Amino acid sequence: MSTQHQDGHDRINIAIDGPAGAGKSTVARKVAERLGYIYIDTGAMYRAVTLGIRRAGVDADDHAKVAEAAASFDIVITNDGGKQEVVLDGKVVTEEIRTREVNLLVSKISAIPAVRQLLVDKQRQLALVRGVVMDGRDIGTKVLPNADLKIFLTASVDIRAERRYQESGNSQQITLAQLRQEIAARDKMDQERAVSPLTRAADALVVDSSDLTIEQVVEHIIELGRTKLAGAK
Ligand code: C5P
Repeated sequence: MSTQHQDGHDRINIAIDGPAGAGKSTVARKVAERLGYIYIDTGAMYRAVTLGIRRAGVDADDHAKVAEAAASFDIVITNDGGKQEVVLDGKVVTEEIRTREVNLLVSKISAIPAVRQLLVDKQRQLALVRGVVMDGRDIGTKVLPNADLKIFLTASVDIRAERRYQESGNSQQITLAQLRQEIAARDKMDQERAVSPLTRAADALVVDSSDLTIEQVVEHIIELGRTKLAGAK
């Protein structure tokens, strides 16, 4: 289902889900840029909440307190000129949300139903304009079940760990084996949580990026988007 805009262009919503390190955010950002769409990084929202919880010293096991604190945070994500900035309560936290401390806690915080509800509501609001590319773990299954194009982007855990390792330039001071183990643990928590676990939507197309370059994945998704748009006319 696509919407006819006044300028005559159709716009679709694209959902990209998959495990950590599959290349979702890089791909989603590039697809959005190429189509002139808005990119929405839902992982950054869960990361910002997690950082806020850590900074506020809230016990992650106290779900009521976490929910209350999460609802009080002001989180703004901007994407100017292809560069994303994440602002938490007026302070830029773009780098801080990518630290190992946040990696180790984010799946626990994002498994809390009240946190999910809060962020899912925000994400749905952001997608009302249409013409969005949204990436995460539950976009095709929960946030935008009517998305016109759903992609499940994956790659082997070895490749994903290797990519993250290269990306970080080992600034996080851990070995490749440790990083692999932490990614696998995060995937497991994301897949096994009770609320909106990471899973492929029945109507999502699987794209395995193990042997593809970023550009090849981007091109493939844009082509799939074109096919969807042509079919909707
Ligand atoms: O995509 P990214 O790795 O930044 O996501 C960080 C974490 O946020 C995931 O491991 C997952 O626990 C959580 N997340 C989620 N649902 C989303 C996006 C992210 O639970 N839609």
